Amino acid sequence: MKRFFSCVVVLLSAAVLAVGCGGDDTSGDPVAVTLSTSPQSLEFTAESYSQTIAVSSNAAKWIVTVDDAWCQTNITTGSGDRSVSVTVSANPGDTTRSTTLRLHAEGAADVTVPISQTAETATGIEVEPDEWDGVKRADITYQLLIYSFADSDGDGMGDFRGIISKLDYLDELGVSAIWLSPAHPASSYHGYDVTDYYALNPRYGTEEDFKALIDAAHEHGIKIYMDYVINHTGKDHPWFLQAVADETSPYRDYFILSHDPKADIAAGRIPMIATEGAAGYDSGQWFSAVTQSSTEPQKVKFTLEWSSSPKLTVERVDAIENSGTADSGKYLYFGDPAECVEFYTQSDNTYTLSLEIYSPWGCLVRTSNTSWNNGTKYGAKSGSNTMEWGVPLTLISNSNTDPADILLPGMESIMYHSHFWTGYMADLNYGAAADCENSAAFKAVCRSAEKWIDMGIDGLRLDAAKHVYHNASSDENPIFWNKFYTTLNDYFHRTHTDDIYMVGEVYSDYNEVAPYYYGLPSLFEFAYWYRLEWALNNSTGCNIARDLLSYRELYGSVREDFIEATKLTNHDENRAMSLLGNSINKAKLAGAVLLTSCGSPYIYYGEELGYVGRKDNGDEYVRQPMKWGDGSTTTFMDKIYTGMNNVKDVPSQSDDETSILNVYRTFAQLRNTYPALADGEMTQHAVYNADNMQYKQIAAWYRQKEGQRMLVIHNFSSTSTTVAVDDEIDRAVAVLNSVSANYGQTTAVRLGGYSSVVFLLK
Ligand code: MG
Repeated sequence: MKRFFSCVVVLLSAAVLAVGCGGDDTSGDPVAVTLSTSPQSLEFTAESYSQTIAVSSNAAKWIVTVDDAWCQTNITTGSGDRSVSVTVSANPGDTTRSTTLRLHAEGAADVTVPISQTAETATGIEVEPDEWDGVKRADITYQLLIYSFADSDGDGMGDFRGIISKLDYLDELGVSAIWLSPAHPASSYHGYDVTDYYALNPRYGTEEDFKALIDAAHEHGIKIYMDYVINHTGKDHPWFLQAVADETSPYRDYFILSHDPKADIAAGRIPMIATEGAAGYDSGQWFSAVTQSSTEPQKVKFTLEWSSSPKLTVERVDAIENSGTADSGKYLYFGDPAECVEFYTQSDNTYTLSLEIYSPWGCLVRTSNTSWNNGTKYGAKSGSNTMEWGVPLTLISNSNTDPADILLPGMESIMYHSHFWTGYMADLNYGAAADCENSAAFKAVCRSAEKWIDMGIDGLRLDAAKHVYHNASSDENPIFWNKFYTTLNDYFHRTHTDDIYMVGEVYSDYNEVAPYYYGLPSLFEFAYWYRLEWALNNSTGCNIARDLLSYRELYGSVREDFIEATKLTNHDENRAMSLLGNSINKAKLAGAVLLTSCGSPYIYYGEELGYVGRKDNGDEYVRQPMKWGDGSTTTFMDKIYTGMNNVKDVPSQSDDETSILNVYRTFAQLRNTYPALADGEMTQHAVYNADNMQYKQIAAWYRQKEGQRMLVIHNFSSTSTTVAVDDEIDRAVAVLNSVSANYGQTTAVRLGGYSSVVFLLK
């Protein structure tokens, strides 16, 4: 019966509505359309962000609009009497701002509601951190590139003494370790192609300078980690040069060399690449190295018989004599640096050239001295490219395939393996993983590391840790690193009671990183930045704590005392600030998140200054000189990222309380002050977490250690949000941007756009 009654009411209402809408009113005067609001204006303060207005109307439809985007309504149309919720975002300016809400209904006069909002006052919250006791417990490491950091001798190249002069700066950032870019001699500017593991790059200083850096850093409570690049050496390393030059060299076995890689892999003669190319996994490339019996220039005469299959002959001569005309359009290409010399035309499609030649890579014949287009380059068939004196060698062109370099008599080619798709690095040969500690290369790199341990370094950063062994899905790399770590840790224990620190670069998501904890105590967590970057750019912080905790669970299943090296970006990635759309607010928040979450954070130099840079035109653009602002700088690099002009230097950021540098300094000190933040347990917040999509912009978690409990809340969106927390708050100890709180049994915490707050709990 009740249900029947309801239906009648609905039908009756529909009938009334139909009369009103259809204009079929026969009672006489049309009904006037009414439209009004209460109140007739709205005023917001720094502490109020949402209010309601009541709309009174008999209109079947009215429309509500607001002039400015900082003020929004929960509905845009309505009918009859209805309330409208009006919300404003935080006012970033320092003056009151105004806008207008407008109501419109057909047949009624428009209604306007003036809205104003006073400017944000101070943070609206008292912040009282405890005094720091001077213990660096936060485990913050600073990654710096020696060449770009600080120059002490005015040669434009950063150096060891330059770093010593900036240790106070690093102290202020609360760091307790420095990861130095490769310090060994190398052919490249970046140093990842080492040519001597036992020496230091002379442009960085002497061994005495390096020792002085280690000692000075230790006095500041700062450890020194060397970048150890032992997956490969540079192609200019004497080990490699000797290995290639001499089949009987003891270094022959240090590298992965083969005359016929395919056959050697198939026969199981190269255990590090037992499944080269299988599943397309990490196979790297083979490059050709050339040995030469004679290192002296030789006087020779080339004869080129031109046909569809040209033939090249070479003979020794006593004197350089050329006849004919040098207008042949045929060139010999050779030497280092390369020269392109024209042949002399003889009769019957024959061309000759006498010259004194030294060419470490051989030669080519070209039909153009400017173009490499198809059909202009002639070389030899791969595998049969070495000439014999007086015996014609048939040439092939680059019309269909890429011909091999033509080797002069006495030269031999051998293939070497390099992972990095570049011929200037050569992979070291450690043999089978199960037995790698007995390989000559393993012993040699360990012996070199012992030298630096003796000098006082505290740890190693291990480059390309996932590229040593190339066998798909094998556990060989973790086994290798376990042996490397154990060997050097045993050596370290001769003079230390603690363990040596080693962090590996496994440039992958967390699930691929996890197995490496079998081998190493610490690994970079690239996933940290992958997730954080997405979260910041999508205003979605609610998943962060859940994701980080899931990684920890996985790592913990492999190694109980794992050290996750959390980070934003490094020298191989686009700068964080650029990936965050050059938003300084997002970059500050990224720093605050890094320094309040679990793990052992790494700060890449310049990140604390809001450095920008993308690698599109070269890695140098993410490796820019430090802006010390004191007249000193590194100048060797001529590639400067244009956006760097807008980055403020250290002194001006130091003077600006709101600078990103001071955000890093504040949160680093906070992490050093509170054990709970430094290495306490992290747990998701009970209310604001991955399940709470209504507050998806909020990231919240607890940190806890030995009775000390902290609540961390971050707002990942640009608009302010108020959250209600039931935790028993003692006081706020840090704030980023604009936060206010109304303390009580339930505390209302209002976080402005990209704001953070850290509470000490009772
Ligand atoms: Mg210098």
